[in-house]
Amino acid sequence: MRYVSTRGNSKLNSTFETLLKGLSDDGGLYIPEKLPEMKFSNEEIEKFEYVDFAKKIIGTIFDDIDREDLYREIESAYATFEKDILPIKKISNKYVMELYHGSTFAFKDFALSLLPRLIKLAIKEKNLEEKIVVLTATSGDTGSAALYGFKDVEDTKIVVFYPTDGISEIQRRQMTTIDGKNTYAIAIEGNFDDAQSALKEIFNDEEFKRELKDKKYILSSANSINIGRLVPQIVYYYYSYYELVKRGEISNGELISVSVPTGNFGNILAAYLAKKMGLPIKDLICASNKNNILTDFINTGVYDTNREFYKTNSPSMDILISSNLERFLYYKLGDSKLLVELMKDLKEKGQYEVKDLEIFNDVYGYSFNDEETIEGIKNSYDKDKYLMDTHTVIAYMAAEEYQKDNNIKVLVASTASPYKFSESIAEALNIQANGELENLKEIEKNTGNKLPARFENILQSEVTQNLVIEKSKMRSSILEVL
Ligand SMILES: *Cc1c(COP(=O)(O)O)cnc(C)c1O
Repeated sequence: MRYVSTRGNSKLNSTFETLLKGLSDDGGLYIPEKLPEMKFSNEEIEKFEYVDFAKKIIGTIFDDIDREDLYREIESAYATFEKDILPIKKISNKYVMELYHGSTFAFKDFALSLLPRLIKLAIKEKNLEEKIVVLTATSGDTGSAALYGFKDVEDTKIVVFYPTDGISEIQRRQMTTIDGKNTYAIAIEGNFDDAQSALKEIFNDEEFKRELKDKKYILSSANSINIGRLVPQIVYYYYSYYELVKRGEISNGELISVSVPTGNFGNILAAYLAKKMGLPIKDLICASNKNNILTDFINTGVYDTNREFYKTNSPSMDILISSNLERFLYYKLGDSKLLVELMKDLKEKGQYEVKDLEIFNDVYGYSFNDEETIEGIKNSYDKDKYLMDTHTVIAYMAAEEYQKDNNIKVLVASTASPYKFSESIAEALNIQANGELENLKEIEKNTGNKLPARFENILQSEVTQNLVIEKSKMRSSILEVL
């Protein structure tokens, strides 16, 4: 496969190169030069399990990776999941795909259990002298999933920057109790956008990169800008669609819509790519919290970051600059020049406007505030005895709004275990407990929803990483760690 930058000035000839590179030198994001068309027949899917879809889809896009290597890594990546890799639950007239049965209880495990294994292959194939340093900014879930994924992977080091503001206790502990030889978690004073934009500058800092290269290190990113994050996420839309076909819930070829709780626009972009590859998806429902910049964008064409930033109870969506939106715009506008203009406006004025609202023909945006989120968790638990985390429930409520005007089945992406955001669950169910562990136990007792044993371990393990720095100190702390 060849890859092109969304900003039109860079092409790469191999998947490995693109995985190692992350962001393009022209500031753009890489996309496959040509997306394959993929559909499956009823006979084909009969014996297909999750891993079979993964091999077929990832293998078709990453067609220049040795089959045997790729298939082996896919198998071992998804062996870290629970036995039922992706349960799909029918809740009233919606289908909820529970994407949280991997190591860190969030959907990011789908990509981050595989990406490090592919990077390991890339280093080997390229015979690199250098080690790979993966730098990641996280709003919570990426950090822990990346640390678990890269833990003890040869010839790599991973440094995760997480904001002091706006992540849950479980998320913080998942990152700071991990005991890999090559894993580092560092807190940045501020919010996610502060951490992410500071990191972007580091990736564009040629002098710093040269300095690292002299020390035999190459920078890479595990953020959702990496093509290795995006492609594995396409698989679960295919799997879920055909699982519903197998169960007789939909017919093969029937159009359904997809609702996704959205932050950096990675997960919903994967659904859009699945649609472009031929999966019968009608509309994309982009669900947001009080940081409703995407909802406004979809409704008006104006993307305006000059607005207040809110800390909400769905922190993984507390984002004002959704990096992957650039890929979506590239496909929709079909014009790198215009895209470059827009991104320049974003950098200089903090906003841009898309004049052609046709691009949102198959995209709907809805947003919900914290109170509505809590209310939604309570309602669906009361009505269906089904627990959803704060992010998932926003997508669920968005699907509900959408279905008021559209008589079409909706697949809802459940992006995290409800236990990952237990404070909000306790609030919704009116459970009063003393501390997070008690909280979890009480929720388990009250709902009968089984608490994964690993949660308790995390809360009880020792915090080994507790460095907090200003964002201006990121470069020096990277050098120190190395
Ligand atoms: C990361 C995350 C999101 C947002 O996903 P994007 O791909 O960044 O849009 C939503 N919910 C949870 C629980 C997450 O961890």
